[in-house]
Amino acid sequence: MLIDTHCHLDFADFEAERDDIVARAHAAGVSQMVTISTRVQKLDGLLAITEKYPSVFCSVGTHPNNAGEELDIQTEDLVRLANAHEKIVAIGEVGLDYFYDTQTPADQKTGLLRHIAAARQTGLPLVIHSRSADEDMAEILTAESGKGAFPFILHCFSSGAELARTGVEHGGYVSFSGILTFPKSEEIREIAKTVPLDRLLVETDAPYLAPKRWRGKRNEPSYVVNTAEVLADVHGLTYDEMAKITTDNAFRIFAKMPRL
Ligand SMILES: [Zn+2]
Ligand SMILES: [Zn+2]
Repeated sequence: MLIDTHCHLDFADFEAERDDIVARAHAAGVSQMVTISTRVQKLDGLLAITEKYPSVFCSVGTHPNNAGEELDIQTEDLVRLANAHEKIVAIGEVGLDYFYDTQTPADQKTGLLRHIAAARQTGLPLVIHSRSADEDMAEILTAESGKGAFPFILHCFSSGAELARTGVEHGGYVSFSGILTFPKSEEIREIAKTVPLDRLLVETDAPYLAPKRWRGKRNEPSYVVNTAEVLADVHGLTYDEMAKITTDNAFRIFAKMPRL
């Protein structure tokens, strides 16, 4: 059994075959999934998906690449929405993306701070997207954790060792995607080895980043199996051991998500 802790089932890529995709996930042993919000404006669509599929849960938040579009969303809006819906089990994704650089760092930081405050108030985990922004992200995590701890996940980890260390130090979880399985990802696998077992998560970030076995194809939650296999390998464990570890971790950090 596995949990895909980060996918985007509301994207148009999945529209026509969502039933099949959820069924294939279950058949592969992926018993539950968290479909992640990228725009608060589109929350209704996400909630409709979680209502249709009992095994699908969701988050609420604004992706850093959309930060400037949702500066009207305040901390209290996020808190109110998260508290109003039982299927919302996380805040985000939010963060800093200096790779795509479509939004100003100032707008991205504003959004990030509001979401951190919402995670602190609700106790729901903050799903953090960090790309080409290691130093700023480490600085913000350290400063904000100092003001009051909040649960968080460094999702789709592709940053440097130092950010992983900072995240773990402040109680964070580190989630690995298909990137872990790519031949060139030696450095990411080295970092994965250093993350304590009780902080590891797996995800697909589908429809992006299909793992090696399905590289080049559109990704989907059932493919998270390949990432868990490689993560097991990295830690010298069996697949079943790693599946149990990451699943137990998922239910610990996504504390609002029931085990079905
Ligand atoms: Zn992301
Ligand atoms: Zn994502």
